[in-house]
Amino acid sequence: MGYEAVIGLEVHAQLKTASKIFCGCSTTYGAEPNTHACPICLGLPGILPVLNKKAVEYALMMALATHCHICSESRFARKNYFYPDLPKGYQISQYESPLAEHGWIEIQTDHGTKRIALSRIHLEEDAGKSIHSDAEDLSSIDFNRCGVPLIEVVSEPDISSTGEAATYLKKLRSILRYLSISDGNMEEGSFRCDANLSLRRKGIEGFGTRTELKNMNSFRHVQKALEYEIGRQLDILESGGEVIQETRLWNENEGKSFAMRSKEESPDYRYFPEPDLLPLVVHQEWLDVIRENLPELPDEKMKRFIDQYGLPRYDSHVLTSSRELADYFELCMRETGDAKMVSNWIMGELLRELKRDDREVQDCPVSPSALADLLKMIKEGTISRKTAKDVLKEMYREGKSAKTIVKDKGLIQISNEAQIASIIEQVLRGSPDQVDKYRKGKTQLVGFFIGQVMKKTHGKANPRLVNEILKRALEE
Ligand SMILES: [Zn+2]
Repeated sequence: MGYEAVIGLEVHAQLKTASKIFCGCSTTYGAEPNTHACPICLGLPGILPVLNKKAVEYALMMALATHCHICSESRFARKNYFYPDLPKGYQISQYESPLAEHGWIEIQTDHGTKRIALSRIHLEEDAGKSIHSDAEDLSSIDFNRCGVPLIEVVSEPDISSTGEAATYLKKLRSILRYLSISDGNMEEGSFRCDANLSLRRKGIEGFGTRTELKNMNSFRHVQKALEYEIGRQLDILESGGEVIQETRLWNENEGKSFAMRSKEESPDYRYFPEPDLLPLVVHQEWLDVIRENLPELPDEKMKRFIDQYGLPRYDSHVLTSSRELADYFELCMRETGDAKMVSNWIMGELLRELKRDDREVQDCPVSPSALADLLKMIKEGTISRKTAKDVLKEMYREGKSAKTIVKDKGLIQISNEAQIASIIEQVLRGSPDQVDKYRKGKTQLVGFFIGQVMKKTHGKANPRLVNEILKRALEE
């Protein structure tokens, strides 16, 4: 189209600390409205915030995992604005001195690995939540979310397509989940994303005028909103118009974004250093301890899966997309010892079932060792691969073991050579014309004979043996 998209993403992720960032209130999601609120998070006069050390530790874990430079001293700042869900009239955030800067993460794209630079990661507090009911013509406010710790992860405008944006977000969420510091749940609002987007002619260095997109509440929304915005800007530019710098809200129901009223836009936040909190100093010793205790992260795990199990890069990438899936693979692998086989079954049959039910692997009704038992039956020749696929479906639905299903349904594969030879003999005797044609060179008829044998054995004959014995019989 002659233009390319230039996208930068700002992600807000709630940290899974037990208590809020500046007070002792619980952070548990889904509690009765306004039951987790105290004078501190409500911003009543005379209160003093106290920084939650765990929140800092979690933010540092993320910063280290994304190769950031950690600032030995950072500062909290007040971001002043009025909004009903912000009872203090300001949000405590970090502005000029963030906790960490200049990191990066790598994503897999169609053109290989791409590095997306992060400009900063900082800590801040969440605001409350306004709930609007059109039916009752009423707006309510829940302050439970006020003061829940957030990290904001800001990327450089290194993302050039909606697909890359989705991949970047999934990678970021995967790192947060590997670290067990955030649920990364977009639907529950513990992982939120705003985007900056502009277009520029391909090959040109500078940037076009950008718009800011907000209110995208799922990965699908992000992709749709960005696609819509690319189309909108493209129409403007191609008809000779100019893109206006503005903030736009995505409306999922209408599949469109709308410009916010200019009044709500680009407010002057009058940032100033938070007078109630000391500068945040991170000692090297503490940082070293955190670094030492970081778990194995997605990229490292992916490399290890390639080296240790000899898996293709693609398989390793899929299997390490979540910590739970990687664990599932390794548990199953430990019992079967055949990495590629386990990988194929997980990526194919198992993920297909899970996807259909919209389930995560941790909720899979087939345990890793149950899958391993099934795979062992294939390796031992007890059942065919084709039968195993049906058995797995039933294991998934009924929660029964492979052995029980195979026994109850009489699915054991026929691997007795004499028995198979005798069936083949019957088939060949019953189709003299086809045998004649085969022997005169029409060798593709082998498929016909195999089909006949499978029909007679209800698909239970060992395909390898059928092939071998059939060829021998036909060449006699
Ligand atoms: Zn509180």
